[in-house]
Amino acid sequence: MFKPPRPKIGIASQITSIEKHGNLLFVVIKKPEGFSFLAGQYVTLRLPSLEGKSEGVCARAMSLASAPHENDLVIAMQLSDSLYKQEMQKLSDGDLVEIDGPFGYFTMHETLEPAIFLAGGIGIAPFRSLLLAEKANGWPHDITLFYSVGHLENAAFLSELALLQNNRFRIIVTVTRSRINEKFGVTMESGRICTAMIQKYVSNLPDNFCYIVGAPLMVSDIYCQLCESDIDPRKIMTELFTGYE
Ligand SMILES: Cc1cc2nc3c(=O)[nH]c(=O)nc-3n(C[C@H](O)[C@H](O)[C@H](O)COP(=O)(O)OP(=O)(O)OC[C@H]3O[C@@H](n4cnc5c(N)ncnc54)[C@H](O)[C@@H]3O)c2cc1C
Repeated sequence: MFKPPRPKIGIASQITSIEKHGNLLFVVIKKPEGFSFLAGQYVTLRLPSLEGKSEGVCARAMSLASAPHENDLVIAMQLSDSLYKQEMQKLSDGDLVEIDGPFGYFTMHETLEPAIFLAGGIGIAPFRSLLLAEKANGWPHDITLFYSVGHLENAAFLSELALLQNNRFRIIVTVTRSRINEKFGVTMESGRICTAMIQKYVSNLPDNFCYIVGAPLMVSDIYCQLCESDIDPRKIMTELFTGYE
């Protein structure tokens, strides 16, 4: 029976590592004492240096990219020139951030039907959490991940996720804005995710639970296409990364 942990508000915790790669920032935060969450959930991450400013300035919703059994909390964020992201980049190891959460219902179905994961850009974050949890549970589901990126160099976690592939899990990376020049040991496509692309790799589409994460326009586009392909809308889970176009 689905029972999300009770969220907590304003938990201060320390950054243990912060690294910038291209336009992505990877933040590792010490897991606060007694903090638990389900794979796929998110937190609100507040910056004490912006205290006193409105919630829309000092806080952002961020998916947890780490799995519940890992020691630290991992967050991957796409950079922009917003005040929040500028302040975020000034932080270093040992600095404090504040967490509210965990929140959300973007969690794995409890039955054994297969799953299709559809990630747009930094929308890969909650899938890392779900995939590491699947691995820890012995891969109970067949999973196909479609990971759409503009340019391959902006693909977060790709080499790590590629190594997880096995007879129950595989990755199709699709590149939308540049030529394919590296393979990372995964199947490569070009262009946006569409049902024709999904059906090329998944024969029994309506049998699957589908999980879509990314910018709202990308999520709604794929959601509509899936609904037109006879998938029961109750088997489509979405997480909209608002703030991205
Ligand atoms: C459930 C969920 C999970 C997310 N997970 C991730 C993730 O893992 N990685 C990632 O990079 N992004 C994630 N996002 C998106 C993230 O929260 C930001 O909206 C996004 O990073 C854009 O922020 P910005 O500062 O770059 O842009 P901005 O243009 O400054 O922000 C976009 C707009 O959203 C408003 N806004 C954003 N957050 C809040 C808030 N908490 N309260 C009120 N207004 C707000 C801003 O005021 C602004 O109007 C997630 C969003 C949601 C809803």
